[in-house]
Parts: sequence; structure tokens; C-alpha cells
Amino acid sequence: MYPASFENLILELHKLPGVGMKSAERMAFAILGWDDDQKEQMIDAFKKASNLKHCKVCGNLTEEDECEICSDPERNKNQICVVQSEKDLYTIESMNEYKGVYHVLHGTINIQKGILPDQLNIDALEDRINDDTEEVILALDPTQDGETTALYLSRLLSDRVLVTRLASGIPFGGKLDYADAKTLSKAFAGRTKE
Ligand SMILES: [Zn+2]
Repeated sequence: MYPASFENLILELHKLPGVGMKSAERMAFAILGWDDDQKEQMIDAFKKASNLKHCKVCGNLTEEDECEICSDPERNKNQICVVQSEKDLYTIESMNEYKGVYHVLHGTINIQKGILPDQLNIDALEDRINDDTEEVILALDPTQDGETTALYLSRLLSDRVLVTRLASGIPFGGKLDYADAKTLSKAFAGRTKE
């Protein structure tokens, strides 16, 4: 039996996705082996990350009220790419091609799990759309939940603005963040009107 504080560290690490008890134990031993500087850096990283918040415009992660993308004058504010997570936003950014802005939904509609449109960041999306908005690009996972959400959004928005979707290329059931840059770039270039 480990001392309670060590057991506690293992249990906390075990809360991370993909970290089983064995891995958590290995991580905890690795942390024990660190010197004070390394431990301090880790604690500091945790503290700084806990100050992160959601951008008041798009829902992206940020340290300020508005994220770097929303406050960048070079980005086209009239082209809005809708993604389900910050992770997907960064996947698209890594393509280095898209010059519009984003809107992060923080999930997808799933009736069975009780995730309804009003629990997602959809009201703020509706509020952002105005006469200057040129296009809303739906870049959601090609899964059942992604499809349901895309359908909901296109019904909601398509009489106000041009709504497009990424071309197929990412197989159904796949995840956007697993697509390689080339596939994603093609899917963007070949996007279709809803
Ligand atoms: Zn933003």
C-alpha cells in the first residue's frame, strides 16, 4: 500500500484520458524522480492553464477576452468555420490555409445522451451572423452526431447565409482531427453548399 499522498497522485493522473492505473503509477514514479525545479514548472503550467477561458466571440481557448484569431486583423471575419472542439480548430489551423475565423460549438447534438442544441455554443453563432457574413463552413466530424448537428445548423442558418460543408474525403465515422493535412485541405477546397 502506497502512502496516501502518492496514491492520491496516481488517482489524479488516472483521470486523464487514456491513462490506465499502470500508466498513472509509472507517471507518478517519474514525477517523484523530478527535482524541485521540474516539479515547480509542472505546477506553474497547471496554474497558468487553469486561467484559460473561452473566447467571448468564438469559444476558442484564450488567455484574453478575445482569442488570437478573433483579434487578428488579417483574418476574414465574414467567413466562419464551425468546429465541435478547440482541438479541431487547431487541426484546421495546422493546415495553414484557412484565413477566416472559427466558431467552437463545444460538442455535438446527441439526443440519446441528452445533449441538445441549447447546451452547445449555438446562440452565440446565430448572434454573430449579420449581413456582412459571407459563409458559414460546417467542419464537423462525419459521424452520426456530426451529421445531426450539421443538419440542425444548416436548417437554422441557410436562409440567412451561405452554409457549406467540407467535401467528403474523411470517411464516415472518422474524426476530423485524424485526417492528414492533405485530406483536410482537399475537403476544404471541395466544400459544397448545403
Ligand atoms: Zn475567438
